[in-house]
Amino acid sequence: MQREKAQFVERASCITCGSANIIQIASGRFNDDPLRSFIENDPWGESPIPYIADGHWVFVGCGDCTTRFHQRILAPEWVQRCYSEWVTQEAMEKFLAPQNTPQTHFNKARQHVSHVLRLEKLTRQIREGDTVRVLDFGCGWGEFLVMCARFGLNGYGIDFAPDRRKQGQVSIFSGIEDLQNGTPNRGMGFFHAITMFEVLEHLADPLAVLQSLNDLIMPGGVLILETPDCTGVQGIQTIQDYRAIHPLSHINSFTPKSLRTIAGYAGFSPINCGVAQVTCDLAKVIKTEAKRALSKLLKPATQQYFRKT
Ligand SMILES: [Zn+2]
Repeated sequence: MQREKAQFVERASCITCGSANIIQIASGRFNDDPLRSFIENDPWGESPIPYIADGHWVFVGCGDCTTRFHQRILAPEWVQRCYSEWVTQEAMEKFLAPQNTPQTHFNKARQHVSHVLRLEKLTRQIREGDTVRVLDFGCGWGEFLVMCARFGLNGYGIDFAPDRRKQGQVSIFSGIEDLQNGTPNRGMGFFHAITMFEVLEHLADPLAVLQSLNDLIMPGGVLILETPDCTGVQGIQTIQDYRAIHPLSHINSFTPKSLRTIAGYAGFSPINCGVAQVTCDLAKVIKTEAKRALSKLLKPATQQYFRKT
């Protein structure tokens, strides 16, 4: 049976600075190995291969601000299809199954607690005793928001996947408009903090989203951005390259530097997030303190804290 072909759209200018000075870094066809085998070996609800096999991908960099991204991305209606029919919940669970261990759950919870403690501290000066109001953009099933609630923070979530919004523990909205319409007082400057964990790399227009979020956050409010670190990725040769710049979903590729650049364009400045000690293991305490002492020498990662300027 002849399947319809997925539609792609082209991003002609830089996703960060808008420059038209775009340089091609790598390109190829979805049908060519190793990309085709990487895609074939991933768990999917329905395989995207019949729809995309004839298509090609183009990975580019901005000649002015050095941001890198996929120039050809799925058209909006195909993105919907990608996240509803190709990447199903079941496929996602299969993909994440190797991480489903007691140790990863424990580490994830420790990370969440670290962020909660830091956000509480970093927002004290702007909220004058008010409860911390946090928006987790791209919150998934809301695990981070559940942790926020345990500590008495007021958490709100935005997620595009309808299934994820059905769970009742925290309020999850379909988008910024939905959040504002449903709750009129939660508009401009309402939030003390906004978090985006592994979201920015998926967005067709990441700067526009960051600018909209800037409107929602109070002056001096805190933003946490976390993306895969794509430092050194030049194309799709290895499975690590594929995970970093998967042309159907990881369409934007950030390094510590380009993450700071896009945040700067959206009106945020990097800050030192400080250290949260969430452990009763003395060796870990010492290691974290050593990192704190060295923090000025260590390279910043692609998980960074910012403040609205
Ligand atoms: Zn640029």
